Formats: sequence, C-alpha cells, structure tokens
Amino acid sequence: MIRKTRLYTPGPTPLLPAAQFAMAAADMHHRTPEFRALFQKVLAQLKVFVGTKNDVLLLACSGTGAMESSVSNLTSPGDKVLVLTAGKFGERWTGLAKAFNLAPEVVSAPYGQTFDLAAVRAALKPEHKVVYMQATETSTAVCHDVQAVARIRDEVAPDTLLVVDGITGLGTTYFDVDGWGIDVLIGGSQKAVMIPPGLAYLSMSDRAWAAMETSRNPRYYFDLRKERKNAAAGESAYTPAVALVAGLGAALDYIAGQAGGDLEKGRIALIDNAQVNAEATRAGLTVLGFKLFAPTAPAAAATAVAVPEGMDSGVVVRALKAKFALVAANGQGEMKGKIFRVAHLGFFDYLDTVALLGAMEHIARDTLGLPVQFGQAVAAAQEVYAKAAKE
Ligand SMILES: *Cc1c(COP(=O)(O)O)cnc(C)c1O
Repeated sequence: MIRKTRLYTPGPTPLLPAAQFAMAAADMHHRTPEFRALFQKVLAQLKVFVGTKNDVLLLACSGTGAMESSVSNLTSPGDKVLVLTAGKFGERWTGLAKAFNLAPEVVSAPYGQTFDLAAVRAALKPEHKVVYMQATETSTAVCHDVQAVARIRDEVAPDTLLVVDGITGLGTTYFDVDGWGIDVLIGGSQKAVMIPPGLAYLSMSDRAWAAMETSRNPRYYFDLRKERKNAAAGESAYTPAVALVAGLGAALDYIAGQAGGDLEKGRIALIDNAQVNAEATRAGLTVLGFKLFAPTAPAAAATAVAVPEGMDSGVVVRALKAKFALVAANGQGEMKGKIFRVAHLGFFDYLDTVALLGAMEHIARDTLGLPVQFGQAVAAAQEVYAKAAKE
C-alpha cells in the first residue's frame, strides 16, 4: 500500500495548491508597482476576512511576533494588564507581559476549560490598560467567549483595550470585531489561511492607534506606526515576505470563490465548514470510546482528545503516522502524552474528516484494542454532515 502524507495539525495546516503556485511564481521586487498592487489587494481582502473597518497590518513574523507587537506598542513599563489564560497560548501573554515589565494580573481556568465569566468581571478594573485573551486556545482546543468578555469590558472598564489572539479563532469562529469593540485581533498565516508559516496579520482600532502614541516602550522592527504609514502607500517598512503575500492573496481568492466570489460570504462558509467538521469529529471519536478533553467549550479550530487513563497519546500520534502518514499533534507541555489534537481549520473539508475517522477506527481497534466496529465513527460523522447539509 502507498501512503499520502496528510497534515492534521492545528498549524501548520495543509497548503492550498493555488497558493503554492502563486508562491512559486512570486518572482518580484517589493518596491515596484506590481508588488504594491498585490500588497494593497491583500490588505483590502484581509479587512474583509477579519470582518472589520479597522486597519489591518501584515507582518513578516510568526503569530507570536504580532502578539509581542500588541504588547510593546500598547503599553508602558509598570502598566497593569489583565491576562485571561487557560492553556499554553494564554501563558504566552503572561510571559510577554512580564518581558515588557508590565504588571499582569491573571484569571485562569484549568486546561480543557474556559474561564468563569464572573471571575473575569470581578478581576477586570478600569486601571487595566489592556485585557489579553485567546479566541480559541489551541493547546487545549477550547473556545473562549470573546463577545461576553467584550461586554464585561464595556460595562466595567470601557477604556480598557481588548486584544484577542485569534490565530486559530479567525476562520473558525464568528466575530463582530467592530460591533463588539475588539481593539486588536491577531491572525497567522499557517492556520486558517492555508499557507505556510511566516506571516502574521492584525486589526487595530482607533483606540489602539491612540494608545501607541503614549507608549514608552522601545520599538523598532515592530513599530506598528511605521507599518501603517507604509501600508497606506502599498508598501511594508522592511522587506516583506513577498511569496507568502502572493500565496495569501491566492488563498483569499479561493475562500471568496467558495461563495461565488464574495469574500465575506466565503469567510462564513469557511467558519461553518470548521464548525461542522469539528462537530462530526467529536461525534465520531466519542462513538469510538474516546473522551473529549474540552467537552464544555469545544473549539472548531481543533479537537483535543483524551486517551484512556494509563495510555500514552503518543501511541495514537505515532500509529497514525506509521500506518497512514497522517500527522496529528500531541499535547503541549504537561498535556503531552495525555491528549492528541486534530485540526479543522483552513483547507480541510468533510471528506478529510471522514478519512481521519476511518483511520481512527483502525487505530482504536488494532492499536488500542478497543471494541470497535468498522464504520461506527464514519457513520456518526455522516449523520452530523447530513443534518448540517439539510439546514
Ligand atoms: C499557532 C498559535 C500561535 C502562534 O504561534 P507561532 O508559533 O508564533 O505562529 C499563537 N496563538 C495561538 C492560539 C496559536 O494557535
């Protein structure tokens, strides 16, 4: 039997062929009319993809670079900020805040859960310059309620900026960026937009721009004011990741093409797709006897699955790779060995979910010795799909 490599990791995600061709063909200099036209087109598309009237900037860095820029540009040493954390990426906000000598206060939830909104309400104070959170915590596959946090902010601390790491939330979760007042929303290229790592993008509200003017932090590469000025002229401050920008344009064209050329509708189709595939995956794996790691607030970006007590999740990850060349993700940090994760964000369709569940039936039966009947998980997923397709 031959095997095809299939990525099911929540970043990097599978590459869109049209984006790969666009990247291979992107043989151009960045201070030219050709590139300026491309860059301006992609920035305009990104606004629609993020769903905002705010400026969207594109940076040559991984997602964490944009996270760092939203700390260095919006705060000053000693500022109080609130961090909402329930996993490895939430902890990254705390680490960044400390690196810039802020005074972070933390509301946390156990891995696999989302935070208690009453605790958020009790902790948030007008003296907090910023509240930092994830939309979806990829390390545990939990979805946080950004809208509820935005409402609490409006009621308790209306001047506090809301910065959301939407790196796996974008393209998998519904946001009303301007309606809810999300001041900064961050995305990354290796997640829902179907291209390799190396680009981050972020939307910036007028309030966020104003905060940058009073920040006392040193900034150079990540001086977002400089990026904004250059973006207005169709350029980036430094050499952009030209090929990735071309790939991103092709990917956003593809997403628009899924809805007759309407990118706004295409974005919704992409989100619906992730939601249905996540639900189908949860249904299929539950039937096989697996326990969901985040049953109360599951993300559509990825599904985290606990293996039975005494078992090592690495066994599942390794068996998927060895038997089917299927690449799933182990748990991060102390969750390693306890859970495995599979993604639904970006270039995954329903048939990818069927393939994953078919493979998992083999692994569950032959590797883990669970009492599995072939077809069980696939049938459960088909029921979810059939119901969603009717609606
Ligand atoms: C992938 C990811 C990041 C960014 O990580 P990089 O390795 O810097 O791209 C940040 N937050 C979340 C929630 C993620 O899933």
